Amino acid sequence: MIKLKSQLEIEKMREAGKITAGALEAAREVIKPGITTNQIDTVIRKYIESHGAKPSFLGYAGFPASACISVNDEVIHGIPDSRHLIDGDIVKVDVGAYYKGFHGDSARTFFCGEVSEKAKDIERVCRESFFAGIAKAVPGARLGDVSAAIQEYVESNGYSVVKEYVGHGIGEKLHESPDVPNYGKAGRGVRLSEGMTLAIEPMINAGDAGVYVLANEWTVVTRDHSLSAHYENTILVTANGPEILTKI
Ligand code: MG
Ligand code: MG
Repeated sequence: MIKLKSQLEIEKMREAGKITAGALEAAREVIKPGITTNQIDTVIRKYIESHGAKPSFLGYAGFPASACISVNDEVIHGIPDSRHLIDGDIVKVDVGAYYKGFHGDSARTFFCGEVSEKAKDIERVCRESFFAGIAKAVPGARLGDVSAAIQEYVESNGYSVVKEYVGHGIGEKLHESPDVPNYGKAGRGVRLSEGMTLAIEPMINAGDAGVYVLANEWTVVTRDHSLSAHYENTILVTANGPEILTKI
């Protein structure tokens, strides 16, 4: 069942979203060669906690950290550790904040130092595919319209869409109905309506779409070890178009 949010609930989700966005900005500011992914995770946890919220991911299904931090060929669910970032790394940071009973969920692909043109391009295409998708997120449209727009944008730019992991509804729970795939057919799927809150999150690869999970049972990496990018916001469907809730 898809839960439509009331005005009061939306107000709380805006607050959770703002803290989520702030935590990502705090991470962006410290990413540079030499920092460890553990140190970035600590910055994020402290930001969230100092704003009276809780990291949504800490302890979720046993996840051991506050943020997922995935480097280069790691797609999502990277576990922060003592790894030092180096110049040229691309760093996907995925953050959730739980505040007043509601979650925000957002991810960015950040650059560590000077990165390759290829890295800049995959980040751009991933980000732009999100906006191509949400342009279709209007009341009366189908979820497949959003999914198809993302896939079309990504593939027409020469990248592939990860199929095994998808976006999702979000609210009192981090993951709610419906699933939001980054591929699909226009005109199919759930009809969108005002008050739906969705975490839309294209995950795209420079090479093949295939991925696998490392022995730590969390970190998803590209099968061919090509670069991967991720971009996510929590959005609200409104009569005036999509509102991004994970904005500062
Ligand atoms: Mg996320
Ligand atoms: Mg998500």
